[in-house]
Amino acid sequence: MPGRSTQYTVSIVVPMFNEADGIEHFYSVLKKELDRLKCVHEIIFVDDGSIDDSFEKVRQIAASDASVKGIQFSRNFGHQMALFAGLKMAAGDYIIMMDADLQHPPRLIPELIRHAQTGYDIVYTIRKDDETGFLKKSTSSLFYAVFNFLSGLKICNTADFRLITRTVCNTITSIDERDIFLRGLFCWIGFRQAGIEYKPDKRKYGTTKYTFKKMLRFALIGITSFSIKPIRLSLFLCIAAIMIAVFYSGYALYVKLVLDSAIQGWTSILILNSLFFAGVFMLLGIIGEYIGKIHMETKKRPLYIISNTFGDIQEKNN
Ligand code: UDP
Ligand code: MG
Repeated sequence: MPGRSTQYTVSIVVPMFNEADGIEHFYSVLKKELDRLKCVHEIIFVDDGSIDDSFEKVRQIAASDASVKGIQFSRNFGHQMALFAGLKMAAGDYIIMMDADLQHPPRLIPELIRHAQTGYDIVYTIRKDDETGFLKKSTSSLFYAVFNFLSGLKICNTADFRLITRTVCNTITSIDERDIFLRGLFCWIGFRQAGIEYKPDKRKYGTTKYTFKKMLRFALIGITSFSIKPIRLSLFLCIAAIMIAVFYSGYALYVKLVLDSAIQGWTSILILNSLFFAGVFMLLGIIGEYIGKIHMETKKRPLYIISNTFGDIQEKNN
């Protein structure tokens, strides 16, 4: 496997939302780690519409460190958008995304880079987490099980703490989607990927900025942007409705013709009702299939992604 050059530049992308209390501590821990690497680096803080003075604090840090850069959103657009904006600005050969609360330990950075230098394009991290509450742990495992089943992808309990190479960064930022679910996209784009396990540290300052509502929205965006299977539910309901219609119509005819004990009108209402339900579910299913196709088409995802070529070859017909 070809190794990569030891001369490299690193961009760190840090989304933050009301992290003023801990941002200086985060910066000092991160900076120590980066200085040890002795590589050219930049730290891009993306302020996702904080209402505290997170951005001011970053500006103060930047006054004595030219490698610190800041972007401020006009309002809270969400963690995923903040990450995406940071990726668009990042200039490094290796780009590392991490949270501002020290739950993603900067001490892992050398290991992420070591993996990248052995030829991996995406080095993601897997939480080995003993301290997360039971509720958060079980809902997140359930989410990944449902997501993997519906999308056909295979993502594990990853965090948005990962390293990507310049090529992957260019590929991701050229994807023109509205509902961005980075964990899914990074799995979907392929390339050579490696995962490393880590035990997240405790949040040092403040509390989680992911409210229940934000998590629910995150889960819904994840599922709907990678799967049209839920829309197929109507087709399954249609098959169930047809089976019920056949069985019940047979029963209704038996009661009327053999037992001769049906109330006037009961047989026809029952047969018509069950057949109509089956028909309506079938039509909904068919409409759903077309809507699902439109939904996927509007994403305009590339049909394939080329990671390498050799020889004098380039696309001629585009
Ligand atoms: N964050 C953000 N926008 C938001 C929510 C969170 O930029 O709307 C940032 C937050 O400041 C932190 C990271 O995203 O750096 C992860 O959030 P948090 O630590 O609150 O999530 P948790 O670790 O509890 O899942
Ligand atoms: Mg956190």
